[in-house]
Amino acid sequence: MHLQVLSSGSGGNSALIRAGRARVLVDAGLTLAEMEARLSVAGVPPPVGERPTLDHVLVTHGHLDHARSAGAIARKHRALLHGSEAMLSTPSFRRAKRLSTLRVGAECVLDEELGLRARNVPIPHDAHPTIAFRIEHEGRVAVVLTDMGRPDEFVARELRGAHLLVLEFNHDRTMLLEGSYPAQLKRRVAGDAGHLSNDQAAQMLRWLAGDELHTLVLAHLSQHNNTPELALAAAHSVLAELGRSDVRVLVASQHEVGENLTV
Ligand SMILES: [Zn+2]
Ligand SMILES: [Zn+2]
Repeated sequence: MHLQVLSSGSGGNSALIRAGRARVLVDAGLTLAEMEARLSVAGVPPPVGERPTLDHVLVTHGHLDHARSAGAIARKHRALLHGSEAMLSTPSFRRAKRLSTLRVGAECVLDEELGLRARNVPIPHDAHPTIAFRIEHEGRVAVVLTDMGRPDEFVARELRGAHLLVLEFNHDRTMLLEGSYPAQLKRRVAGDAGHLSNDQAAQMLRWLAGDELHTLVLAHLSQHNNTPELALAAAHSVLAELGRSDVRVLVASQHEVGENLTV
């Protein structure tokens, strides 16, 4: 299985997972045109004829930076669009032709023959529900966990076992509190239903990192309230504490398609 981050941050989130012949998108938070451009860079050109070019589009929650073109991209690429019941009636979902309701907290078999499964776990955030995905194929596990308001040990336990982990490192708490955001927005981001600070993400990492973890992708970094250096320092410090300095750590980009990573 391979995972490639197409975009990460409040301007739009999306990751492409390839497992055998299956192609799965987690979130589609850019415009349709921008999603198409990033998919092309990743080697998934627009479809010719009726053959699907994506099999599944999974959506974590209804915020536009995750769901913006989910329906349109699923329709265009003939993919099955998966979202929680609450998401199905939202404008971004309406354009999809093929819809599947995700049961929150349950596992969904994406491809029986390939043994490709996606389990979702509800996480605290101010779009209800918001879920994280644990995708498994041939014994390899990729986890995508962003848009979480506070560390939660139960969530970490449910998601453990990742070989590759995409984890939100949204903001540095001091930069957020001393920065230029309006007070209300600061309260929202820092609140229990907002986003993970570097320190909170580090706590999640402490709980999530198992022996099998080999690659960590720092995701959804705030452009205003974080720097890659601060996020990396927080991640490296936990990995050093766990004696896991061998784990490869990357920062996902808002503007460029990332490396195609082996899970
Ligand atoms: Zn987001
Ligand atoms: Zn969100």
